[in-house]
Amino acid sequence: MSVKFYKSEHQVPLEMHKVRMVQKLSLLPVEERLKKIQEAGNNTFLLQNKDIFMDMLTDSGVNGMSDLQFGAMMQADDAYAGSESFTRVKAAIKEVFGTENVLPAHQGRACENILAEAYVKPGMVTLMNFHFTTTKAHITRVGGVVEEIVDAKGLIPQTDDPFKGDFDLDKLRSRIDELGPDKVAFVRVEAGTNLIGGQPVSLSNMIAVTDICHEKGVKSVLDASLLQDNIYFMKMREARCKYMEIKDIYHLLADHFDIIYFSARKLSFSKGGIITSKDPKFTKEMMEYVPLYEGFLTYGGMDVRTMEALAQGLYESLDMEYINQGPEFIKYLTKELSDYGVPVILPAGGLGCHLDCQAFVPNMPHNQYPAGAVSAALYIIGGIRPMERGTLSEQREPDGTERYAELELARLAVPRRVFTLSQLKYVADRVKWLWDNRELIGGLEWVEEPKVLRFFFGRLKEIGYWQEKLAEKFRQDFGDSL
Ligand SMILES: *Cc1c(COP(=O)(O)O)cnc(C)c1O
Repeated sequence: MSVKFYKSEHQVPLEMHKVRMVQKLSLLPVEERLKKIQEAGNNTFLLQNKDIFMDMLTDSGVNGMSDLQFGAMMQADDAYAGSESFTRVKAAIKEVFGTENVLPAHQGRACENILAEAYVKPGMVTLMNFHFTTTKAHITRVGGVVEEIVDAKGLIPQTDDPFKGDFDLDKLRSRIDELGPDKVAFVRVEAGTNLIGGQPVSLSNMIAVTDICHEKGVKSVLDASLLQDNIYFMKMREARCKYMEIKDIYHLLADHFDIIYFSARKLSFSKGGIITSKDPKFTKEMMEYVPLYEGFLTYGGMDVRTMEALAQGLYESLDMEYINQGPEFIKYLTKELSDYGVPVILPAGGLGCHLDCQAFVPNMPHNQYPAGAVSAALYIIGGIRPMERGTLSEQREPDGTERYAELELARLAVPRRVFTLSQLKYVADRVKWLWDNRELIGGLEWVEEPKVLRFFFGRLKEIGYWQEKLAEKFRQDFGDSL
């Protein structure tokens, strides 16, 4: 939650939890950081955690676990089949979503693999507000096509629109008609639209999408990985949700969507993945893929301790004082930066604060990877690890030409219940310094470029010697300080 401070106009986020287990961090000198990022091929995925001060790569699998989650992990029931831990997962899903049909998987993308295997045939189209990297990779791997139908407002970096993840409903309707329902594998709604800045979808828009699907005879799928943040925004920004119980929103969604899946690395502060549906028909259609790819139907690749943490974490995702922590910290960081003039995605969304790198380094061409360059620079000057979410994260076209991203973002993820406010103040300070010194940032070029999901393990190098100059300027301005 956030509180007003004495003699201050600003709301300040306040941690409604205390830290009872700690992990030591290190902050290397800038010269060391320069060396480390170059050894990592300028790819923040290839840095070692021990060399990082603020790990803002992702909110996936790195959220703060509660005392009750750790407690639950101790009562895990080890069994190949019929584990009590899975029974507790099912009970939590029943409580939170109101659904009884549950398939386990080892993480979110495994659910996507199962969905793609079960429903996507070569040439079929999946319509979605926006793609996610792993979703698209699984769909295209089996010969499917992804089309995005996000409302035009979603791609405007700075607006004050509360629900930038919304579908363009007219376009959805006409696209289904053009294709014919048989050619549409499913319509996928991504809550908390990841790649456009963690932007939420309104409850009304989600329901309208499912109504269109129902009317046209097309399956509707909700990717609920970021639903926790999305529900926070529904409660804050959508009049009809203000007085609804959080649980009622989950239940309403489960009543409307044919299939819901999520990465438990995000929703539920744990690890693992879940597919659930109100109608057993859907889970039956997907069931055979679970033992094939994941594991038996009562663990699906998750270990029993993970399942216990998942079950407890789902109950916690009904607690406003837990679910507001991430978005309020992100809002604080975003406001600090935007007040200073740093181009960030507005309004603040879930999962992290996103720097708009097309505006940060406006003269850099897409094929020098502006978001990758800003991400590498942030590590050099602050020991901060962002994730590139721009052209590097795209796949080339089949003929080898670059597909330029709609938005060039450097994402500063804020894992839930992990960082303190002084750590975020540090990040804001270093980003402001980089903004004032942005003319020193140069581009990147490939050294090794993998064909699939290249952003995970590709290696690049600086064009020229801008990184050395950036580190030198940092040293001049900060003296002996880290
Ligand atoms: C993270 C994420 C996934 C994939 O989940 P993993 O557990 O990382 O495999 C899918 N969809 C969305 C929206 C995500 O944010």
